[in-house]
Amino acid sequence: MTLMGVRDAVAAGEVSAVEAAEASLSRIDAHDGAVRAFVEVHAERALARAREVDARIAAGERVGALAGVPVALKDNMCTSWGRTTCSSRFLEGYESPYDATATKRLLDAGAVIVGKTNMDEFAMGSSCENSAFFPTRNPWDTTRVPGGSSGGSAACVAARMVSASLGSDTGGSIRQPAALCGLVGVKPTYGRVSRYGLVAFASSLDQIGPMTRTVADSALLMNVLCGVDPHDATSANVETPDFLRDLERPVEGLRLGVPTQAWDERNHPESTRVLREAMEVYRGLGAEIVEIGLPRMEYGIAAYYIIAPAEASSNLARFDGVRYGRRAALGRDEDLAALYARSRAEGFGQEVQRRIMLGTHVLSSGYYEAYYLTALKARRLIKADFDAAFASGEGGPGVHAVLMPATQGPAFRLGEKTDDPLAMYFEDLYTVTANLAGIGALSMPAGFAKGAGSDGEDLPLGVQLMCAPFDESRMLRIARMFERETGHGERGPGM
Ligand code: GLN
Repeated sequence: MTLMGVRDAVAAGEVSAVEAAEASLSRIDAHDGAVRAFVEVHAERALARAREVDARIAAGERVGALAGVPVALKDNMCTSWGRTTCSSRFLEGYESPYDATATKRLLDAGAVIVGKTNMDEFAMGSSCENSAFFPTRNPWDTTRVPGGSSGGSAACVAARMVSASLGSDTGGSIRQPAALCGLVGVKPTYGRVSRYGLVAFASSLDQIGPMTRTVADSALLMNVLCGVDPHDATSANVETPDFLRDLERPVEGLRLGVPTQAWDERNHPESTRVLREAMEVYRGLGAEIVEIGLPRMEYGIAAYYIIAPAEASSNLARFDGVRYGRRAALGRDEDLAALYARSRAEGFGQEVQRRIMLGTHVLSSGYYEAYYLTALKARRLIKADFDAAFASGEGGPGVHAVLMPATQGPAFRLGEKTDDPLAMYFEDLYTVTANLAGIGALSMPAGFAKGAGSDGEDLPLGVQLMCAPFDESRMLRIARMFERETGHGERGPGM
């Protein structure tokens, strides 16, 4: 069932929260051996929570908007139970003393969190293969990756183990796995959702957001997640609209901008086809499609892979073997520097070490201006391109959203890109610009690459919408128009 489906069934007394939790847990039992979406499943705790919700409903108490709904959390969000590992050896045994604000908001709304999902270590990657524990597999074709870094969060929703999950998106980690698994994934505007208790990767880019089967489910989760938080000084003090209220109301006079950069020659032909079809669908709904230029988009990957590692190298300095996580054994005559070096060498995987070295290098004296400052300037220009696209009147075409591919192609095979970091980085071609510009974006199901799977399976593809800062309400309405017309997200992987 969808999130809304479970919520309504529980509220109407047709399904108890315990039944919903049991259904989710038995689905996990049946399929997670093949998919491996979860690093930890908290069955007992989930059932106890569900019993609590049922008792409150029976007592006629008010329950929240997600009462009794099974959901999953990416394992970089702190929970005061279980472990929070970021799929890293470094934090393998780490138990957080507190709940992230996103965790707390879900709990306050009555959600039943069934477990923590696998991810690329510290959210660095696009395939879930950088997990220190095991790779997660795509439910549509288990020889393929689910995308990343929120690969576990995508796979568990696609495999119908839970109705929804949370992911985090620094350069595409919600939208790319959502696209490769046939889901809706929303990266809210920077500042929309509190990051308190989200283990930081790149603080000027990170956002938490929903991964769901439908647009309405994402809107419902946005209602729960968004809002200013005194614990996160970067959370924006803006009003949270009711994202569900006008969701069914089509946007009148809709103007969508498709950038010339959307037609990259490296795109899989099926990605190009679904984008063309999406344009036709919107035209059929009366939208005007205008061609726009995002000329500085071509610097997106380069800028991102300087800025994100720079911030990561700083954020990950806290993992020193003293305060958090793994501590290496030392010989008698070894000093503190040896403790740091050995703990970090043992605790961090290859990609994380690569990012720390890259980041340290681009911030080092003599290189700071050439790399880091240049990247910041490129970032500003990328933002200016979007500002111009959204500006109306003299300033620009005044598009309500930008439409472009979410990824260049469907899910790739496990191992296909692990030896080529640059090929892996280019998975983010269409997604990083939204993080660099700080704007809202989502990916939604847009059809299938027919017969593209290893056994001739159809593989899902997504298209992306991007909106001006804090314009997610309209972006979700635009997405809903497409979903209602096409029904692409209704099909599941047939597990
Ligand atoms: N794939 C990108 C990276 O490896 C984005 C990851 C993310 O959004 N967390 O950095």
